[in-house]
Amino acid sequence: MSRQPTVEVKQLHKSFVQRGPWPWSPERRIHALKGVDMQLWPGQVLAVVGQSGSGKTTLARIVLGLEELSEGQVLIEGRRWDTMGEAERHRYRIHYQYVPQDAMAALDPQQTSLEHVAETLRVLGGNGRAEARKKGEEMLVRLGLSERFHALPREMSGGEQRRVTLARVLALAPRLVVADEPTSGLDPQRRQEVLRDLVGNLPTEAACMLVTHNMAAAKRWCTHAVVMLDGWIIETFDPQNDMPVHPYSKLLFDPWSAPLPGTSLATEGCPFRDDCPLVEGSDPDRCRVMPSLMATDHHDGRVACHQLASTDPSPGAALDATGSTNPSDPQSSGSPIPNPQPRGES
Ligand code: SF4
Repeated sequence: MSRQPTVEVKQLHKSFVQRGPWPWSPERRIHALKGVDMQLWPGQVLAVVGQSGSGKTTLARIVLGLEELSEGQVLIEGRRWDTMGEAERHRYRIHYQYVPQDAMAALDPQQTSLEHVAETLRVLGGNGRAEARKKGEEMLVRLGLSERFHALPREMSGGEQRRVTLARVLALAPRLVVADEPTSGLDPQRRQEVLRDLVGNLPTEAACMLVTHNMAAAKRWCTHAVVMLDGWIIETFDPQNDMPVHPYSKLLFDPWSAPLPGTSLATEGCPFRDDCPLVEGSDPDRCRVMPSLMATDHHDGRVACHQLASTDPSPGAALDATGSTNPSDPQSSGSPIPNPQPRGES
């Protein structure tokens, strides 16, 4: 594994002004991200999990430079990405790819699936016409679209449209893929197929950030997970081997849980404190301050909770923000994470 994270996000803040529907409506400043630190290493598939409005899509879009940040830093493969000019970014864009939520909107209604992939390979990948066509066919076959080379987007099912967007991205052998809810609107069977195609066809050293509110997807396909709430990362853990312990994460990952709070988030301190079952056992005033991510005795990731922080100060010092220890880092002294399942079928 590389000694350099593919993505490193430092103290990322994003805020914007929201205006009401009328000219005289008061303005409101919305804080979509409130100080996010995160690392994503080569070979990792990171689930960014949270409800609508938690900041997960904003985080993903800022990482790829599709949205501007307000404060903080984004480094990709060690380079400052947030301050890089568009001309320089263009040199790297072939390696850093985005899978949009709305596949139909991303496809040209006049182009067949093969034309979509071949054009990407020609324009971005620099391949000649014949080579682009050959590689495009190979990628579509790998994604189960051998019978659909000449289908237009409107002639394809939702799952097939997603596969064409994946084929365009994967054909470029990217080093970073950011996928924003790539299975939204699909039935459970198609969801699994699309995620299998995405994760199973990533180059070995590629890093992938999968934005999802589908907990089953995180558990099955991702080597690491971060849970977001109200612009914060509140927990990092290995979804294939561990269960989350933050009370909000537990609700998210419990399919039988009561509806999650959406509007009752506290405006200062821990946003979950009005609904948190752990507050009673703790000093409630402590929860008026938002805790940072800390090591916990419950798993090898980290959690933003005063009650769940490790009582042993030594472990976790070298944990990265995705809850893992970089095994190739000689300075890493944190306890190694249990080996996550390899990508693909678990
Ligand atoms: S910090 Fe406090 S309110 Fe937040 S999860 Fe922990 S105990 Fe609950």
